Amino acid sequence: MFSHILLAYDGSPHARKAAMMASDLARRYRARVCLVHAYDPIPAYLGEPFLQEAISRRTEAAERVVQEARSLLEGLEVEVEVLEGPPAEAILRVAEVRGVDLIVMGTRGLGQLEGLLLGSQSQKVLARSQSPVLLAK
Ligand code: ATP
Ligand code: MG
Repeated sequence: MFSHILLAYDGSPHARKAAMMASDLARRYRARVCLVHAYDPIPAYLGEPFLQEAISRRTEAAERVVQEARSLLEGLEVEVEVLEGPPAEAILRVAEVRGVDLIVMGTRGLGQLEGLLLGSQSQKVLARSQSPVLLAK
C-alpha cells in the first residue's frame, strides 16, 4: 500500500508522535521515508556579518532537528530534505517532486495557539495534498 512515506518534522511533541507512526508504517510496509524539515527564511537585509551568523544559527538548529528525527527512524532508508520557507509549501513540493504515497505529520506543532485543533501547516497540507495525510495527535 505505502512504499514512500513523507514525514514532516519540526521537533514538536506531535511531530514526534508522527515520527513514531511513520517509523512503524515504514517498517511494516518496507517503505522508504522522506524526512522534511523547513526553517524560517533568513532576512536578506541583515547584511554582514549578521547574515552569516543567522545562516549558521538556522542551519545548526535545522541539523539538530533532523538528527533527532533520524534517531526515531533508525534502521530505515531515509532521504532528508531541509528547505527554507513556509513548511506547508515545502511539504507539498517535496511530496509532489518525490511522488510520495503518504504524508505523516502532527495535528499541532511548535505554535502557541493551544486552543486550535489543527495548526495552520497541517490544515494547508490536508487541504492541498494529492496523497493521503495521516495527522498524529
Ligand atoms: P501554527 O504554526 O499555525 O502556529 P502549530 O505550530 O501548532 O500551528 P503546525 O505548524 O501546523 O501547527 O504543525 C503541524 C505539523 O506540521 C507538525 O506536527 C509537523 O509535523 C509539521 N510541521 C510544522 N512546522 C514544520 C516545519 N518547520 N518543518 C517540517 N514540518 C513542520
Ligand atoms: Mg507551526
